[in-house]
Amino acid sequence: FLSGRTALITGSTSGIGEGVAKALASRGANIVFNGFGDENEIKKLVDNVQKDYSVQTTFIGGDLTKEKDVQALYDNALSKFPGGIDILVNNAGFQNVSPLENFPLDVFNKMVAVMLTAPFHLTKLCVGNMKQKGWGRIINIASVHGHVASPNKTAYVAIKHGIIGFTKAVAIETAGTGVTCTAMCPGYVETPLFIKQAEDIAKKIGGTYDDGKKQILRVHPTGEPVKVDEVSECVAFLCSQAASQMTGSSLIVDGGWVSH
Ligand code: NAD
Repeated sequence: FLSGRTALITGSTSGIGEGVAKALASRGANIVFNGFGDENEIKKLVDNVQKDYSVQTTFIGGDLTKEKDVQALYDNALSKFPGGIDILVNNAGFQNVSPLENFPLDVFNKMVAVMLTAPFHLTKLCVGNMKQKGWGRIINIASVHGHVASPNKTAYVAIKHGIIGFTKAVAIETAGTGVTCTAMCPGYVETPLFIKQAEDIAKKIGGTYDDGKKQILRVHPTGEPVKVDEVSECVAFLCSQAASQMTGSSLIVDGGWVSH
């Protein structure tokens, strides 16, 4: 049902973004990949998705902390797909765990740049064309941390609450135009972002990776992590006709975390 649409997914070389790219390609969307990683691995991923799902794909790198890279990402995406971006998934992100007193200001600023400024900038660039076409989907990969807080994650929690506010504001501005803006709020998903935290905890408690993982997952009443495709399938749903009236809202997939 997304045949002929083009999706730009930031941070799609790994984890949730990669899963979203495949889920949208499997529905027929052309994909603009972005993110860091090994050049050969990225080429393999981008070529395989093109082949497996018979869609057009391209990779446009760039560091989303840099304003000119964000602009270049959009400009190069448009050169490849002159029809414009129909689906924007603001997914790129990273975590830094540290007590507030020791939290480096430059890391805070980088996190804001990737998870708040870049989504603002890309949405600003994409939304005009979506409105003109009368159809568009802006999906922000927020987090359960857009609704609840955890210790030593001040930057992440503030930014994820911020992106939920941004989602609501964009939804109000685009209401009635055929464009929707929604937030996905996963609990813990076992991607490299999660694995690093589990490893750090394992080191701290002198246990195994599984001990670290178990400790993190205490906040999930299910005791299990969310799987990448349990997030990416929801993103595909948000792109469907059935989700046309879902705008400004958050879709929470969290193993029961916020209900606890
Ligand atoms: P991941 O580390 O697997 O992927 C992150 C992606 O972002 C990678 O492709 C990476 O290259 C890219 N990226 C990071 N900094 C970048 C930059 N400066 N410029 C360009 N690309 C950059 O992590 P993930 O778990 O898949 O995270 C994806 C999103 O999901 C993030 O916004 C994260 O906050 C959110 N999220 C993750 C979890 C989780 O438990 N894994 C839970 C809730 C929300």
